[in-house]
Amino acid sequence: LEAAEAAKNCGWGTWKPLWMCGAGLADSTVGILGLGRIGAAVAARLKPFGVKSFLYADTDPRPDVASKIPAECGPNLKIISTLSVGVDHLALDEIKKRGIRVGYIPDILTDATAELSVALLLAACRRLPEAVEEVKNGGWTTWKPLWLCGYGLSGSTVGIVGLGRIGQAVARRLKPFGVKTFLYTGTRPKPERAVEFQAQFVPLAKLAEESDFVVVTCSLTPGTEGMCNKDFFGRMKKTSVFINTSRGAVVNQEDLHQALVSGQIAAAGLDVTSPEPLPTDHPLLSLKNCVILPHIGSATFATRSAMAVQAAHNLLAGLRGERLPSELQL
Ligand code: NDP
Repeated sequence: LEAAEAAKNCGWGTWKPLWMCGAGLADSTVGILGLGRIGAAVAARLKPFGVKSFLYADTDPRPDVASKIPAECGPNLKIISTLSVGVDHLALDEIKKRGIRVGYIPDILTDATAELSVALLLAACRRLPEAVEEVKNGGWTTWKPLWLCGYGLSGSTVGIVGLGRIGQAVARRLKPFGVKTFLYTGTRPKPERAVEFQAQFVPLAKLAEESDFVVVTCSLTPGTEGMCNKDFFGRMKKTSVFINTSRGAVVNQEDLHQALVSGQIAAAGLDVTSPEPLPTDHPLLSLKNCVILPHIGSATFATRSAMAVQAAHNLLAGLRGERLPSELQL
């Protein structure tokens, strides 16, 4: 909520490693006070976020862009170490042509980004920023059965666009929320990844038509740029929720805006936009059914620290002429 507020009011400024960092669930200890039906259901949903141990207390013991690196950079450039898994900000053709090696950060940020994707999904489908606002502005009066109702995951169909590292980690975390069916799309079927979720490979159009929740976790490539457009949103159900934690340019934002304003889709949650920072007077920021975060997918203290260490190892190995711990295959 602090991040959404910052995206709305202050602008984001340049990317800063520790800005908006929080605490992640991976490797954490979670204490549950009252392990009854709800306590147990919360624990079951948190477990796949990588919680290390659960403690409980109860009455009785009971058994989770920068501009392209310029083609004109000096002839001495040999190694690039990017503090990201996404490489869409790099001029890959030029880099390849010049034999520059690239270190990147796969895996380390998967958990934190998946966690944020789920948080954003829940914030959008359960209207959390709107609800917080109502508490603050006095809109919370008597109990009303349908006030601030949203859409839940139980019994739903979730469509994952790009069942890669982050896509799978999102599905793993959403499964215990009672999701009935997982669909996914990508360059080709990946049965070895899909089996864990009994996920079905479908074309993009079918995924849009059948999903109650669409989560975009693909990489930005010429093939995915602008992929979520008027046709895509037009196929989605009026009750469906759209989440993007990949890259802003995968989405045609004008088409998304139109879909949200016209009620073609119920809500959206974006951690990434085009451009970044999103100008504070951008029309998407005025919509109640659109939650926008300032690109904080990997922003846990532990993740950013581990990313920094890995980026340094990549760079040092490159300077020594050794194999990079995580080298991008160009
Ligand atoms: P992976 O390489 O593991 O996954 C990328 C996925 O994109 C693959 O599953 C691939 O599908 C899919 N994809 C490629 N082309 C298409 C297409 N045309 N249609 C549908 N899917 C496609 O990467 P990660 O999971 O580690 O990261 C994914 C992206 O998430 C990054 O590239 C980055 O942009 C973004 N990211 C965002 C963060 C944030 O802070 N919000 C943090 C970290 C990453 P296939 O397997 O079939 O080839």
